[in-house]
Amino acid sequence: MDKTIVTTASPPASHWVGDGFHVRSLFSYQANTAVNSPFLMLDYGAPTTFTPTTQPRGVGPHPHRGIETVTIAYAGEVAHRDSHGGGGTIGPGDVQWMTAGGGLLHEEFHSPAFSASGGVMHMAQLWVNLPAAQKMTAPAYQAIVAADIPTWELPERAGQLRVIGGSYQGFNGPAHTRSPLLVADARLRAGVAWHWDIPEGWNALLVVMQGEVRVGEGAHSRTIKDAQHVACSRAGDGLAVQAQQDSLVLLLAGEPIDEPVVGYGPFVMNSREEIMQAMKDFNDGKFGHM
Ligand code: MN
Repeated sequence: MDKTIVTTASPPASHWVGDGFHVRSLFSYQANTAVNSPFLMLDYGAPTTFTPTTQPRGVGPHPHRGIETVTIAYAGEVAHRDSHGGGGTIGPGDVQWMTAGGGLLHEEFHSPAFSASGGVMHMAQLWVNLPAAQKMTAPAYQAIVAADIPTWELPERAGQLRVIGGSYQGFNGPAHTRSPLLVADARLRAGVAWHWDIPEGWNALLVVMQGEVRVGEGAHSRTIKDAQHVACSRAGDGLAVQAQQDSLVLLLAGEPIDEPVVGYGPFVMNSREEIMQAMKDFNDGKFGHM
C-alpha cells in the first residue's frame, strides 16, 4: 500500500538571506514538525542572476546549534567557513553537510571566483534535526563533491536519482547521517511513471524545484510545480510519481524523531531552557570565533 498525501504546500514569497541567497522557505520548524521530521527547514533558491562584483555576496558569521545544515549547489559556487575549522567551496552538483551539533559560527558567501564572474546561483539548504542525544555532539563538516554522489538510472528511463545521504535500492549516499533518513535529488523525464519506495513508518516529502510532477494515484493524486511540495503519511511504503514536464525534485524521507522541537532562529533544541542556554553560550563566546 502506498503512502497517502497529507499536506500539499505552496511556498511563501521569497526573501533574502544576507545579500547572496534569494530563497523561499518551503517549510520550517514553525509548523508541521510531525510530518516533516527529521527535517526542520528547507530554503530553495531558484536560479537567480548576479552581476559581477569584487565584494562577495552572502551572509556573515552567525551561530547554529542542535541541527545539521545541508547545502546543495545546482549552479554557482558557495564558499563556507566555520569556527570549528571546517570550510570549502561547493559548485554545481556538490553538497556541504555541516553538523552544527553543540554549536559553531559560520559564514556563507558566493565564492570569490563566482563573485568576479557573476552568473546564475541555484541552490537549496536543508536543515536536518539531530536526536536529543546528539544535539550537543561535536561540530563536523562534510564536503561532498558531485563525483562522489552515486547516480542511479531509474527504471523505464524515468530519470536519474542521486543519493546524497542514506541509501536507496542498495546505493549508499556519501554523507554520514545521524538518524535513518534519505536525502536524494532526481531529474525526472516527462511522462514516465516511477514508484518511489519508502520504508513503512517513515515520513516522506517530495519537493518540485523545477518542472511539474503528479504524485499519488487516482482521485488522491496531486500535481505540484514551482517549489510546491507534498508531505506523506507514515503508513504505507511508497509513492507513485510521474513528471508532467522534465523536472528536478528533492526526495526527503526519514524515521521521525518524535521529540519536542523548540527553535529560535538558528538554534533548534528540545526545550525553552536549552534555547536560553544556547543564547547565553553564544553571548559568552562559547561558539568559537571566525
Ligand atoms: Mn547558516
